[in-house]
Amino acid sequence: MNKRKGILSFLPYLIVVGILSFLFGTSLFSKGASIKTYQDLKTKLPTLTITDVEIETYHTVYDVKGTARNDKNEKVSIAVTVPYTQDQIKDLYAILEEKKVNIITVDGTQKITFGAVLSTLITPVLMIGLMMFLMSRMSGGNQAMEITKSKARREENVKTRFNDVAGIDEEIEEVKEVVDYLKNSGKYRKMGARIPKGILLVGPPGTGKTLIAKAVAGESNVPFYSISGSDFSEMFVGVGAGRVRSMFKQAKATAPCIIFIDEIDAVGLKRGMKISGSEDQTLNQILVEMDGMDENNGVVIMAATNRADVLDPALLRSGRFDRQIKVSLPDKKGRHEILQVHAKNKNIDEKVDLEYIAKRTPGFSGADLENVLNESAILAIREDRAVIESKDIDEAIDRVMMGPAKKSRKYSDEEKKLVAYHEAGHAIIGLKLPDAPKVRKITIIPRGDAGGYNLMLPEEEKYLATKKSLEANIVSFMGGRIAEELIFDDISAGASGDIQEATRIAKYMVTLYGMSSLGPIQYVDTSNMYTTMGDSSLSGYSESTARVIDEEVRKIIQSSLEKARTVISENMALLHLIANTLIEEETITEEEIENLVKYGNIRGETISETENQQA
Ligand code: ADP
Ligand code: MG
Ligand code: ZN
Repeated sequence: MNKRKGILSFLPYLIVVGILSFLFGTSLFSKGASIKTYQDLKTKLPTLTITDVEIETYHTVYDVKGTARNDKNEKVSIAVTVPYTQDQIKDLYAILEEKKVNIITVDGTQKITFGAVLSTLITPVLMIGLMMFLMSRMSGGNQAMEITKSKARREENVKTRFNDVAGIDEEIEEVKEVVDYLKNSGKYRKMGARIPKGILLVGPPGTGKTLIAKAVAGESNVPFYSISGSDFSEMFVGVGAGRVRSMFKQAKATAPCIIFIDEIDAVGLKRGMKISGSEDQTLNQILVEMDGMDENNGVVIMAATNRADVLDPALLRSGRFDRQIKVSLPDKKGRHEILQVHAKNKNIDEKVDLEYIAKRTPGFSGADLENVLNESAILAIREDRAVIESKDIDEAIDRVMMGPAKKSRKYSDEEKKLVAYHEAGHAIIGLKLPDAPKVRKITIIPRGDAGGYNLMLPEEEKYLATKKSLEANIVSFMGGRIAEELIFDDISAGASGDIQEATRIAKYMVTLYGMSSLGPIQYVDTSNMYTTMGDSSLSGYSESTARVIDEEVRKIIQSSLEKARTVISENMALLHLIANTLIEEETITEEEIENLVKYGNIRGETISETENQQA
């Protein structure tokens, strides 16, 4: 049986080489040595003097043709087809460049020659040959080519520790048991204690899922195998499955260890959500490997995803990823701790208050915060400073939040005025309406998609929103639109983001929080909120109820709009003051806003001081 397989796996290989040599006129039977495989080329290259080489690139393969002389000064012809995988191609170029060979690269798909026509005809044949070859490799052939070998990265002596993961202590508590297991798997085996085989980390991007998995490996001092679901999206059917198999094989041989599958949703989507069928094979292989693993073989599999609800239920069944750990965005305290971790190796000005930065960055993930500190370091370097200052961090936060400032985009004066009043409108609500989020910073410098923006924050970070604070939030969103209306007697499309947010809050108040005349009845299935929100047929309420919900939402928005109109109308002088300052300064900070309110100028000078200066 083995023998037959050997021949089988060799056959397509022969076909490929045969076709190639026919195509490029390098007959198999020509005199002198010839190199026809990538491996061969790689091993012999050091001894060769290459006279010329041409690389033709196709979508799936690179054809390398050339002539060379070996150490005995015999002519050697090269005709190698390298399947297109990044690593091999990079390798090849690196080797050739090191030899200072003049490489001519030709886009094979663009060549309109007889050969090209022929090769397009033959490409399908070639593909089939390659595919057969790969399939035969999958069923355990020799090691001639490495394409199905696991692309998994294997790290030993991982340096990451729990200390490097900040602000998510509860999640760390949950994985500590795994560390103990990996360190003493013998003890567990003796006791017959079962440990979860698969742990699924679920949370938004950048919240430290990879970091936790790595820290577990680091703390237990075991090898860390990692692979990403997106690595599997290969062009050849079956390659992904082959990789999974070889990764598990390697891992079992080096147990105790951790296998980490990132972006598992890329292969583990629910049936019916997949793009191609090849993910199925990969997913099945993962399941087969997990099921086939001994209870206590010391391999712990961790996986990460942004959303668990799109995953194939088969993955979550008992004995597979039956333990889920939710990793959420850090709160203020968490952000402070994360900033401290990443500030350790940076030279930051003593005056910089990390806690205040944490307060200013709600919704930022750990990765965003790390990014902020990194960006600010770059900004400092750009100005030849050795110390990171507050202004660097300010700029970095804005960059991370909205993308780099579009300094080149110019406003017309009219537009600038409109944006200034719009943002000032939001600010007034924050300043004058109790419970409304306070404004920390306003700018009319366009960033990303947003025209200007207001950084608003509630006084204290709130875990439980009250009806009053939610209403105040909506009023604050309406502030921009009302300011436009009052000043320009016209309204702009710039408020669409505000309207969207306000509507969302109002809908939640009615359907989720029971804060309307409908009473405390939940009209959305929170377990499936994304699909049922606003779709009455799915959420199980009648059409008449749907109408009432719409009515209630409208009422909330309407009364908030009125409230905003009242508050701003009562504070027109301050509105003009803030808007005009914005037009002048483009950005004003919290302190400057306070000064505006108290002293009428951003520097916080009292009238007499100003007079003194003028005198
Ligand atoms: P995820 O895998 O959840 O997308 P990562 O673990 O890859 O996120 O995080 C990316 C980077 O962000 C980390 O390397 C680290 O520098 C930083 N980071 C994210 N979360 C944290 C955290 N909780 N504590 C410290 N650093 C963090
Ligand atoms: Mg990650
Ligand atoms: Zn707005």
